[in-house]
Amino acid sequence: MSEQNNTQKVSGAIGVTTSNIFPIIKKFLYSDHEIFLRELVANAVDATQKLKALAASGELAEEMGNPTVRITSDTLAGTITVSDNGIGMTQEEVEKYINQIAFSSAGEFLEKYKDQINNIIGHFGLGFYSSFMVASKVEIITKSYRKEAPAVKWSCEGDPEYTMEPTDKEERGTQIIVYLDDESKPFAEPSKIRELLLKYCRFLPVEILFEDKAINDTQPLWARKPSELKEEDYLHFYRALYPMQEEPLFHIHLNVDYPFNLTGILYFPKIKERLDISRNKIQLYCNQVFVTDSVEHIVPDFLTLLHGVIDSPDIPLNVSRSYLQSDSNVKKISSHITKKVADRLEELFKNERKNLEEKWDNLKLFIEYGMLSDEKFYERAEKFYLFKDTDGGYFSFEEYKKAVEPEQTNKEKQLIYLYTNNVQEQYAAIESAKNMGYSVLILDTPLTAHFVNHLESKWKDTRFTRVDADVATKLIVRDELEKPSLSDAEQQELRMAFEAVVPKEGQYYVTFENLRPDDQPVLITRSEFMRRYREMSAMGGGMNFYGSLPESFSLVVNCNHPLVKQILEQKETDCLEQLNAIAQERIAPQSALDQLHKENEKKKADEIPQEQKEQEEQLQDTILELDNRRRKVMEEFAGTCPLVGQVTDLALLANNLLQGEALSKFIKRSVSLL
Ligand code: ADP
Repeated sequence: MSEQNNTQKVSGAIGVTTSNIFPIIKKFLYSDHEIFLRELVANAVDATQKLKALAASGELAEEMGNPTVRITSDTLAGTITVSDNGIGMTQEEVEKYINQIAFSSAGEFLEKYKDQINNIIGHFGLGFYSSFMVASKVEIITKSYRKEAPAVKWSCEGDPEYTMEPTDKEERGTQIIVYLDDESKPFAEPSKIRELLLKYCRFLPVEILFEDKAINDTQPLWARKPSELKEEDYLHFYRALYPMQEEPLFHIHLNVDYPFNLTGILYFPKIKERLDISRNKIQLYCNQVFVTDSVEHIVPDFLTLLHGVIDSPDIPLNVSRSYLQSDSNVKKISSHITKKVADRLEELFKNERKNLEEKWDNLKLFIEYGMLSDEKFYERAEKFYLFKDTDGGYFSFEEYKKAVEPEQTNKEKQLIYLYTNNVQEQYAAIESAKNMGYSVLILDTPLTAHFVNHLESKWKDTRFTRVDADVATKLIVRDELEKPSLSDAEQQELRMAFEAVVPKEGQYYVTFENLRPDDQPVLITRSEFMRRYREMSAMGGGMNFYGSLPESFSLVVNCNHPLVKQILEQKETDCLEQLNAIAQERIAPQSALDQLHKENEKKKADEIPQEQKEQEEQLQDTILELDNRRRKVMEEFAGTCPLVGQVTDLALLANNLLQGEALSKFIKRSVSLL
């Protein structure tokens, strides 16, 4: 103890108006007890940085030495010690910063806002006291850089009583000794300490020593000037952050100092199929101290898909998620990042279009997600989003519109964009559309249904139609359509035959079209509207009603196809007699019914005599019975004429709808037909 040391042992009560503070700290202050270590190391780093500042302004009388923070532990005794050679504290400073400041104002506040304690505590500089979450006793042994000030030892056992006495520490700096309580003893294990230091302190700006080894990189990439760095440095840093990940597409180096402070590096990962797997890779730092890696609710959801590091002293530490969300700095930072991401993509579009096109497949899902969820981003992305067509061409929205407008505007003056979400599965439909002179886009992300719906809501007189939504001639209707060449009776009868062979799962509507003789005999199409809403419902975008409906398809019969003509001829041969007989029998009841309807046309329901009502019912039953007989005949025909099943199965097969028993039946039938 030095001679000038006139400090006497004092004891007192910490300046708190309520003695409840310690239990509150222990229980509620932080959900994560482990952050006490981060807080103590961060304080130690601050102390050495303050010393550096003093040295720089010439106020330091002695050599500064190499600023370091050292962590040691004693597993047996259950202690952790954090030592620094920073500015230290005088007795007055301990009094002021540890005993008074932390609590004097906080005390009343805590009483008032007990419930929101997590939200508020970070603002009161209670970092040091977080050690009481894990400690039964904490000691501070500190010696100020001011030569004349004696060293002091402060000690507190987690109640409002503390003691402060002179001690004989010679070197400048502070030592915090945490005596872990029983349940927190595992924190003293070296492996645990190493893990926590690597998590929270890996990029601290002052050397952190544990077991005589530095655990941190004091000059992380984001804190350096972009002009000094090469592409390789960014890749290297990415690999250090995410050792097991695929290489990113490109990066953005953030560097803002007004109106808030923000540095960081964001990487665009390759995102192909799924959105969820690459989430939560952004690490949030506050002055190089790790805060969290779950940034959902802090930045817009689509940005959580990016990887990298964001560092800002303006992001409050130690606060709950909901608080962060509403923090105005955090909001500004979010929209700044959105803007930077858009800037980078627009720059690529303008100056490195080939590069953007090459990376597009891995990027589009991210961009579509951003456009769907963030209006500001949508407005920006309208300029750099790339449509890709089935010939491998890339177009901006504007370019594409110009290119397809002349050929793809229908008679209602709507511009129809055709797309496929699976080039293999919709191969035949794509070919037919191209033969009509149309362009087909590839829109194949899991968000496609939502995305095209969104674009339709934004763009006037524009519709998106998947190539398999209809037969090629009806995808874009420019003139009046020709009526099918079959008679009504023929259509009814063939419909009954085909209805007998379609799968029981799903709903099939049989329709007739005059397609070319060399088109398929039977085609299956799925209405854009129903299919899209089902997909949206499956993705969880509301629309539950559509999700509950069975899948519906159109079975389009090509009236001009030779095989269909053959079926018709076969029907004539096999069923003509039976069908004629039924038709003959039907004439009388049908004309009687027509007559009745005509008589009663102008009457209200209660003016029609009961007798006539009964007569009408009887006639209807007779007709229904005859129709059923006709259906029976056609069903039997479908059973004996293998062509009906065969052309239907071919169409199902082309759409991946033929499976299991039906598929094996088809194969057997094909063999026997051969
Ligand atoms: P904050 O760090 O948010 O100000 P703390 O409760 O962690 O709040 O610390 C209160 C004050 O105690 C600090 O502002 C600092 O003045 C002082 N202090 C804490 N740890 C040290 C240290 N290792 N060296 C010097 N001063 C320190």
